[in-house]
Amino acid sequence: MRAAVEAIEVVNSHEHILPEQERVSQTVDFFTLAGHYAVNDVISAGMAPESVSAKGLTAEERWRAFEPYWRHARFTGYGQALRIAIRDIYGVGEISAATIPKINEAIARRNRPGLYRYVLKERARIRYAVLDDYWNATPVRPDPEFFVLARKFDRFILPATAKDLAELEKLTGVSITSLRHLKQAMERSFAQSLEAGMVAVKSTIAYARELRFAETGEQAAAADFLRLVRGEVKLPEGFRGRVERPFRALEDHMFHHLMRLADAHRLPVQLHTGILAGNGAFITNTNPVGLTNLFYLYPQVQFDLFHIGYPYQNELIALAKLFPNVHVDFCWAHVISPVAARAALHEMLETVPVNKILGFGGDYRHPELSYAHLVMARRNIARVLTDKVEEGLFEEDEAAEVARLLLAENAARLFSPKS
Ligand SMILES: [Zn+2]
Repeated sequence: MRAAVEAIEVVNSHEHILPEQERVSQTVDFFTLAGHYAVNDVISAGMAPESVSAKGLTAEERWRAFEPYWRHARFTGYGQALRIAIRDIYGVGEISAATIPKINEAIARRNRPGLYRYVLKERARIRYAVLDDYWNATPVRPDPEFFVLARKFDRFILPATAKDLAELEKLTGVSITSLRHLKQAMERSFAQSLEAGMVAVKSTIAYARELRFAETGEQAAAADFLRLVRGEVKLPEGFRGRVERPFRALEDHMFHHLMRLADAHRLPVQLHTGILAGNGAFITNTNPVGLTNLFYLYPQVQFDLFHIGYPYQNELIALAKLFPNVHVDFCWAHVISPVAARAALHEMLETVPVNKILGFGGDYRHPELSYAHLVMARRNIARVLTDKVEEGLFEEDEAAEVARLLLAENAARLFSPKS
């Protein structure tokens, strides 16, 4: 089973990998790689964030601050991925004060053109990945050797100040003095994104607010828009996702406008559900059940719900079972909780049709960590399929077919490169 799963050339449903040129022009070391996800568990263990991120620290000083907490975080999924990346890509089996210089040297040596081909193609065997290039305010066509494009339009849904509107005007060239103009600006950005090869719409709006989008009419939305332009509303300060949204009707209305655009262009919609990156979050905001009206309202839109909704994977399994247009996506999931990912897959294989399970998305900024995540995903999937064969659910050749659906064919069907 392991060999059958290893053999698959993967279609990766979600990444944030920087263009190679940009990556190799940066100074990258152990803490760069540890800085994506792993550090959040180290912070959760008690480390003060600035003790490794402050400018001017030597590698030795940073390690001294990091090590006592890393000891407690190294077994988590994020810790596992970091250790696999250092071991497999850089050939160093132990991470310690003694090996940090050697690790940094090995990373620096490989940090040159050809890195992506080596890591993503030769080592990880990823056919292509869906790229969420959130750092580009206007769309940029990604390198077709590695990526197809997903685009976010959250900035058109969440404007809260006149300054935000001015920013959108600058991006799109549309002058925005009414709700209708705001929609036109979103449409312009959508058209530019199609031009750049967009194959999916993406939203991470769960970072800002609850996933619940009322069917709000134009009047209420326009009234919000007017209040926004007049600047009468003071934005409340608050922790991420806690603030009461002052322009909720406008946001809801604009979100539905985006869904109608996706519908009209037959594009799938990738939605962040479940826990948020970083430390601290209002987790209940991210429950995918709040999205239910969308599945009824846009039956032709294929919804790809991310991160198995963790810790709401049970809710997501139920939604994917009930709605033909709801897909479950394991992106990020095998490193958030390797055990929960296995358990969820175990359940899904007997609950959800297998054509709606996307088994892998790396969700990292650096290819070494996507590689490591995929090692963990292949291992997880092989283990679960082996259990199912032993339990007699299916034969080995059927298990291999399921693995191909999970790791390549389902994602390829939803996100095919535009020619
Ligand atoms: Zn992501």
